[in-house]
Amino acid sequence: MITRLSHLFLRTLRDDPADAEVPSHKLLVRAGYVRRIAPGVYSWLPLGLRVLRKVENVVREEMDAIGAQEISLPALLPREPYEATNRWTEYGDALFRLKDRKGQDYLLGPTHEELFALTVKGEYNSYKDLPVTLYQIQTKYRDEGRPRAGILRGREFIMKDSYSFDLDEDGLKNSYNAHREAYQRIFDRLGVKYVIVAATSGAMGGSASEEFLADSPVGEDTYVICRASGYAANVEAVVTPAPPEIPIEGQAEAVVHDTPDTPTIATLVDWANAAGIAERLGRPVTAADTLKNVMVKLRYPDGKTEILGVGIPGDREVDDKRLEAAVEPAEVEMLDDADFKSNPFLVKGYIGPKALLANGIRYLVDPRVVSGSAWITGADESGKHYVGLVAGRDFTPDGTIEAAEVRDGDPSPDGRGVLEAARGIEIGHIFQLGQKYTDAFDVDVLGENGKPVRLTMGSYGVGVSRMVAVVAEQMHDDKGLRWPREIAPFDVHVVIANKDAGARAGAEQVAAELNAAGLEVLLDDRTASPGVKFKDAELLGMPLVLVVGRGWADGKVELRDRFAGTGDEIPAEDAVRAVLGKARG
Ligand code: ATP
Ligand code: MG
Repeated sequence: MITRLSHLFLRTLRDDPADAEVPSHKLLVRAGYVRRIAPGVYSWLPLGLRVLRKVENVVREEMDAIGAQEISLPALLPREPYEATNRWTEYGDALFRLKDRKGQDYLLGPTHEELFALTVKGEYNSYKDLPVTLYQIQTKYRDEGRPRAGILRGREFIMKDSYSFDLDEDGLKNSYNAHREAYQRIFDRLGVKYVIVAATSGAMGGSASEEFLADSPVGEDTYVICRASGYAANVEAVVTPAPPEIPIEGQAEAVVHDTPDTPTIATLVDWANAAGIAERLGRPVTAADTLKNVMVKLRYPDGKTEILGVGIPGDREVDDKRLEAAVEPAEVEMLDDADFKSNPFLVKGYIGPKALLANGIRYLVDPRVVSGSAWITGADESGKHYVGLVAGRDFTPDGTIEAAEVRDGDPSPDGRGVLEAARGIEIGHIFQLGQKYTDAFDVDVLGENGKPVRLTMGSYGVGVSRMVAVVAEQMHDDKGLRWPREIAPFDVHVVIANKDAGARAGAEQVAAELNAAGLEVLLDDRTASPGVKFKDAELLGMPLVLVVGRGWADGKVELRDRFAGTGDEIPAEDAVRAVLGKARG
């Protein structure tokens, strides 16, 4: 079929939308691919929908290729299954909850582990049925706190989610690896630049998990990469290598010093250097010699709260995302005045490990606080600090926590280089869930020996609508969108750049031949000026643009390659062959 721009439901805009910050958002709106309906809620117009469908098809082909079977579950779901796994509550504000006319609770599905587990339980009952992988390409709903960047982070968006069910751990590993490879094929076909990083599993529960992050300066995910070894991890998942323990024998006693007006790390370090501590250490005191104790309040899904002490070297800040990931599903809150009142041993600016431990406050430390390490830290009295408080001798923390920021130059956990921070957009996520969901619903089949076997589960997501924005983000240039062949709305954009009837007829004929050869053709048959048409062609971003204009009379057309940025004059009689060569080559 030839699609004519004179009929296409499309208006391009000259100006960027006022609410758009990132290039993909600006361009997809200006080029008439999507339109905003509400924050994080978008309509797909014809060109956008064509790209979306093509992304879907790439994903579908690769899922089918690993033997996954497509089904479709509703987005409108009853509360009960999510109650059974506690996610009705744990999902927090991100869950769209609603009531029907009878007052029954429903939700709009943010992800479907519960329903897939129940679906398999409903149909299968023998080990002979397994393994099975099911998937859907379906609309998801999440009431994101900061819907931004257009379709990059929507509140309604399209995800491919698949779920594997296996009899044992080895089976789960196979299903996981099959997905990992399928995802690599999907993202390679889409031409996206990405890394695979170790991840935490977050609200999903379960163990092993990796994220696929597309390279992008506008990405919201910070990850670290070690160029020497190739290790890459989401910042939340970085495991701090602990330095070796230090012998305790022979270390000086801990001494309490008067340190007036030293409520901050900087003032404390200045005091220590002026007070002769540096001489004792044989080097200047730095913030890394101090142990900072940060108090947070954890709120658990059942509403209970706990005050937690987090001890980290004073040269580092707490990274909120790492802390949140470390304490999930609890949420992190600040202590309020009432908390300090009811815990008078918490002396702001001078909090130390001793008072926390003595008063039954759980105290977790950074992995660098190894046994035998000596610290300058609060002595739990205003204007007083300990010098030489030794971990494992003077205080024994309740455990370690990954809450301190990760910095460029930190050693890689694999010991083979240093870490460097980079930004990316999450395009896919694969989890080995294990039995969290099959336990919740008793998803068993009869095993070979006649005994029930609890199934083990994996879950795997690709952001299908997000991919459209990610490709736009990575591939656009200053003139507009640029689509790779695999997902371009049309293979070729034929521009009639002359009013002359001969050129028009010629363009119609070339378009018909391209169409007959199996290409999808967009024909700009409008009466607009050539300048307007060229600008639109650049903005819309088909990979090939064939210009039929003034040269037609002399038997010449121009073939533009949107990616190479080239425009070659070629004989008109070669046009079809040249386009086919590039479109398929
Ligand atoms: P993010 O960290 O970006 O919020 P997530 O970890 O919550 O994502 P998953 O639950 O792993 O996302 O969902 C699987 C995939 O769905 C993600 O890898 C991402 O590509 C896509 N996705 C998640 N949230 C959104 C959203 N709000 N808009 C568009 N796509 C999304
Ligand atoms: Mg994720």
